[in-house]
Amino acid sequence: MKEKMATKKDYYELLGVSKSASADELKRAYRNMAKKYHPDANPNNKEAEEKFKEINEAYEVLSDPKKRSAYDQFGHAGVGAGAPGGGGYSYGGGFRPQDFGGAQDFEDVFGDAFSNFFGGSGGRGRSQVQEGDDLRHDLHLTFEEAAFGVSKEIKIRKLSTCDTCHGSGAKAGSGKTTCTMCHGAGQVRTSQGFFTVARTCPRCMGKGEIPGSPCSTCRGQGRVEKERVISVKVPAGVDEGSRLRLRGEGEAGLNGGPSGDLYVFLHVEPHEFFNRNGDDLLCEIPISFVKASLGTEMEVPTLDGAVKMKVPAGTQSGKVFRLKEKGLKNPADSTVGDLLVTVLVETPKDLNAKQKKVLEEFESLSTETNTPAIARVMEKMKHLFNRKK
Ligand SMILES: [Zn+2]
Ligand SMILES: [Zn+2]
Repeated sequence: MKEKMATKKDYYELLGVSKSASADELKRAYRNMAKKYHPDANPNNKEAEEKFKEINEAYEVLSDPKKRSAYDQFGHAGVGAGAPGGGGYSYGGGFRPQDFGGAQDFEDVFGDAFSNFFGGSGGRGRSQVQEGDDLRHDLHLTFEEAAFGVSKEIKIRKLSTCDTCHGSGAKAGSGKTTCTMCHGAGQVRTSQGFFTVARTCPRCMGKGEIPGSPCSTCRGQGRVEKERVISVKVPAGVDEGSRLRLRGEGEAGLNGGPSGDLYVFLHVEPHEFFNRNGDDLLCEIPISFVKASLGTEMEVPTLDGAVKMKVPAGTQSGKVFRLKEKGLKNPADSTVGDLLVTVLVETPKDLNAKQKKVLEEFESLSTETNTPAIARVMEKMKHLFNRKK
């Protein structure tokens, strides 16, 4: 099962740098892109403005080593707005693009602003290097696996570098001839109005050369589809919708280009007893009205065994007790949530004659202080009826 990604753009791709780019390379790339798409240079151009925001967002994350490592590990989910401590996971809330004026060290980056404004896009190599596609895989976990973390092996079919020709696409010793379509440039140019657009040559796939005879395993493509087993380490505390990013485990690139990434989308089965709210676990436990009245100590299940919980005398139905740090681990900062136990008082049914007698006797002995809520409401109702008359 595989599917091409169609989500938020990759920050590295946005800045046009490799995933191993140094801080300086990042800064340079950002500077060039920001100049190109700066609103001052593109008045009333919505597309440029959008792009400028995206570039700023990408640089904002990648220029911060902590955020960058969170992004490398968990993708866009790792740098969401809700993430505590500026990294790791986020649940739900997406990243809010920074206003472009606010990007840190913007001034610094624009030191020689606009000096080579429409400067060339830089010489391209002969062979068009192309990054492999990102892939998506959906992984289903039990509630416990998500809570405690787990290592899983997943099988995916993906384009991998051909072992026979090591990605060259040529049969060993067959030699190569220059591509007749691009004359060895690896790119073909087409005119569109004022602009000349270069794109990867479709005949040689950017290689500039065509093998004398193509590799028979991959039919000259340099890549073959293969089933691969990948082990995935799921950290403790992940939730439905969490996403893991496995760098370089996507499809193989072309002409020595880097592999894409594999995004593992996590799905968590519900638990028969617990619900969750973020890192907190929730459960409901019924209790007899006698025990709720007299007070008791009851056994409460947690994810790692039962614990004792005190229920004080006079506990009302719906009362929530918080058991500290009996919830789930937060995968980002390793803090632990709580277990929230809601006590529900069960009214007894199917009473026999003796039970009825005892309860009637109990009722006759009751005073207003036993049931103050009832007394309060009765009082209000009395006022209401008197007013209506
Ligand atoms: Zn091959
Ligand atoms: Zn060509």
